[in-house]
Amino acid sequence: MGKEIFFNGHEISKHEQMGITQGEVEKAKQYEIHDAEFDKIKEQIDWNVLNQLFVEIAQKSGISPKDLNLLGADKILNCQLFETGWSGDKEIIGRYSATGNYLAVNSNQIKKSAKEKGVDTKLMILDTVFHELCHSISHHTHVINRNYSEEFFTGKNEITYTGAYRSSKDINKIKFSQVTDRKSESHNDALDEAITEKMATQIFHEYARKVNLTDKKTMDDYQEKFLGDENREYNQLVKFIEKLCQIVSERTGVDKEVVWNGFVRGSFYKSTLGDPEIKQWFAETFSPTFLTELGHAKKAEDLFALVKKYESVHI
Ligand SMILES: [Zn+2]
Repeated sequence: MGKEIFFNGHEISKHEQMGITQGEVEKAKQYEIHDAEFDKIKEQIDWNVLNQLFVEIAQKSGISPKDLNLLGADKILNCQLFETGWSGDKEIIGRYSATGNYLAVNSNQIKKSAKEKGVDTKLMILDTVFHELCHSISHHTHVINRNYSEEFFTGKNEITYTGAYRSSKDINKIKFSQVTDRKSESHNDALDEAITEKMATQIFHEYARKVNLTDKKTMDDYQEKFLGDENREYNQLVKFIEKLCQIVSERTGVDKEVVWNGFVRGSFYKSTLGDPEIKQWFAETFSPTFLTELGHAKKAEDLFALVKKYESVHI
């Protein structure tokens, strides 16, 4: 399986990607947060253990480990990050840039959230980094259909574009500090986040166990107050994907784990819902309409509305 990264309809080379990454990282560094605590946490990440966990996921899901886009510490920045939403600008804790192929977390915002929830900061920082890394491993499937200016490829200028993403792995509405006017459309937002978060939670727990990250009480607290918080949208998304795997499994007779691995592979090689095996499962379980509607869901709320609509068909 070769690389499949396209900009403006043409496949980009490794060399071009390096130039884009360099340009984007330089821009992001203008908003860098200098935080010794964060730097130390980043330095202490055991990349051998972490990358081995990604390789194991790949092997279980029918993904060739050589297709994994594994980033290192040099592609992890700590920046002030904002998202422009319907209700105005909001500070966020992390993002992965598919165009730049780097990730940024916002340690100021993470510390604030950790304090509010009463959980350990280090765990939340690692959890956030792992979530963004789960977005990054499938970098090669991104088809980014936007109109880039020539300057973008040399890293000299901001991008201007219109168009659609194949998936939500690069969030168009995220900016650093100034307001930008970008319009685009993304697909599979909620589903993609659901798969990513479930994968990230699994990686987080296994990594914590393997490196003996913290004591039981701190971890239990994090699990209970954060990962187990029913009001947190990401946890609702995980619940949804688990329910979906269960229903598909019951209806098709395929083992639940196999269904889950299919979702992982689907999000990795083709757009999540385009995987022939997944299409078949949905055709057997629900109807083709369900699949289309699922792709349009933007939030956990939309997924649950969909669940309600299909209640009569047993979801
Ligand atoms: Zn995400």
